[in-house]
Amino acid sequence: MIIIKRAFGFLFAVLLLVVSGTGISASAKYKENIEIPVMLYHVVKPETDPANPYQYNLSEFKKEMAYLHQQGYRTLTMKQYFNILDHKASMPKKPILLTFDDNSSDFYQYILPVLKEYGMKATEFTVSSWINGSWNMTASQMLEIMDNGINIQNHSVTHSFMADLSKEQQYAEVNNAAAALRDLTGQKPQAFAYPYGNYNTDTIAVLKESGIKGAFKVGGGISNDASSRYELPRIIMLQEHTLTDFIRMVNTGY
Ligand SMILES: [Zn+2]
Repeated sequence: MIIIKRAFGFLFAVLLLVVSGTGISASAKYKENIEIPVMLYHVVKPETDPANPYQYNLSEFKKEMAYLHQQGYRTLTMKQYFNILDHKASMPKKPILLTFDDNSSDFYQYILPVLKEYGMKATEFTVSSWINGSWNMTASQMLEIMDNGINIQNHSVTHSFMADLSKEQQYAEVNNAAAALRDLTGQKPQAFAYPYGNYNTDTIAVLKESGIKGAFKVGGGISNDASSRYELPRIIMLQEHTLTDFIRMVNTGY
């Protein structure tokens, strides 16, 4: 009987070693490799103005979302993105953060239907004074995209070059936009995108003082857990980029 007990005890110890051993190696491996491409689009529509590099062609965009779907990419919410970077949540095998700037009306008309087709999440960096503007989404459209899994985040009040403003003016740009977005959505924005990718040390200080969790610049490759939270890289999609460019950029950041 004692021998049987010992045998069971030994087996149990071996089992524990195997289970904990694989657990440790899996989590260590995962922690070494946190890389999340963050894509940046502006206007996406069927007929683009050839003179405006920030306008992206809808047919090309559709190919890119189909590619992500086929390849098994998981689109993240902003909350998931920060939790993964901070090692508070496990990372899906192929994570990606899709961001769209400037709350333009084409998002509602053209982009949302594509994202809905694939059940994709995304973030809309919203300029608060542009809500209901002539080429922008209305407040009710903003609420509707939010109901469809789109995060509304902060892209300032007036879309100014932040580095040209005093610290007080920058504080107003960040916090008045945050208040307007919170009034609209009921949620406090966690992230900021620098208009034109422009910022200085005052901007970062203001964001930290205002409780913003992280801020995105333009360019800089693929974001990872070591990226400065107030200089998070984004990969900008311009009109000249094709699906081939997109695939390369998702994989290399450039
Ligand atoms: Zn912008």
